[in-house]
Amino acid sequence: MSRVYNFSAGPSMLPESVLKKAADEMLDYQGSGQSVMEMSHRSKVYDSIIKEAEALLREVMNIPDNYKVLFLQGGGSSQFAMVALNLMNKSGKADYVLTGQWAKKAYKEGARYGEAKVIASSEDKTFSYIPKLDKSTFTPDADYFYICMNNTIYGTVYHELPDTGDVPLVADISSCILSEPIDVSKFGLLFAGAQKNMAPAGMTVVIVREDLIGNPQDITPTMFNYQIHADNGSMFNTPPCYTIYVAKLVLEWIKNEIGGLDKMKELNEKKAKLLYDFLDSSKMFKGTVVKEDRSLMNVPFVTGDDELDAKFVKEATENGLVNIKGHRSVGGMRASIYNAMPYEGVEKLVNFMKEFEEKNS
Ligand SMILES: *Cc1c(COP(=O)(O)O)cnc(C)c1O
Repeated sequence: MSRVYNFSAGPSMLPESVLKKAADEMLDYQGSGQSVMEMSHRSKVYDSIIKEAEALLREVMNIPDNYKVLFLQGGGSSQFAMVALNLMNKSGKADYVLTGQWAKKAYKEGARYGEAKVIASSEDKTFSYIPKLDKSTFTPDADYFYICMNNTIYGTVYHELPDTGDVPLVADISSCILSEPIDVSKFGLLFAGAQKNMAPAGMTVVIVREDLIGNPQDITPTMFNYQIHADNGSMFNTPPCYTIYVAKLVLEWIKNEIGGLDKMKELNEKKAKLLYDFLDSSKMFKGTVVKEDRSLMNVPFVTGDDELDAKFVKEATENGLVNIKGHRSVGGMRASIYNAMPYEGVEKLVNFMKEFEEKNS
């Protein structure tokens, strides 16, 4: 068996030990005589899986008790509407910072349900930086202030959070959840689709301060009401059972094999440094993001020559470095180096880039 290094932006790699554990338990989960895929979500054995997954997430992310943790479906994209429907409930206003396509989509959805305002945007330079924010432009009575923390397509991240005072900060952390410690108490709501850094596709985690929910707009569909899911322990309807189970295995991996999020961050910094240092020294390859806003998770780069980019992608693929083609809006290449990408994978990529540069210049 030969496994490739998969640089996909999502769904992405999972830790090998997690895949092996899932394989071991595939036919008979811990003596239950059945696969987790086959279990009733109302069974005792499944109940312990979902409870353990939540407990581990709370422990690993250090989530305060006054926050609800929800395991939902509908992807990160459903949250663009859910956030607005549930939280735009007092002034009906919300502020958005546009740092990429995901933030823009969230803003457009928010604007359907209330008065959404764009505070700043970095679209003028293909979202290659995080815009500086002027607090005096914030809406003082906004129901929330929305950011996309790590911009998967463009490779930028907020290293500093906006100071929104009493206005709850809402953040899409789909592509950076569990990559480093995060102070949950600074946010009103966090959400993340699972398929980047947590589990296979199919589940979205929502972490929300409990005082913010329970008063959704009247038009809110029942399935889009956070309170309904909170009251039912994410079991109002059938949850994404198997994805939650794999998330539990990933959380066990972070806790027991990696040693927690501080350690995870160290490893991620080491991987990213290897790649960024090479990009900064290369004459052929250039990172597309301003240095101070570089993401640890998604690293876009270009040669400046479309034909050379295509040649690189083709040859990288032949060498077991797959899904490295950049998003069409940026072009070039993008290496997504999430938690499960081993250091050796980045090392192999950098060595391959060096060789490619020597041969083609
Ligand atoms: C992938 C992604 C999404 C969309 O997630 P879906 O689960 O496909 O809806 C939203 N936001 C960010 C930051 C993402 O990376």
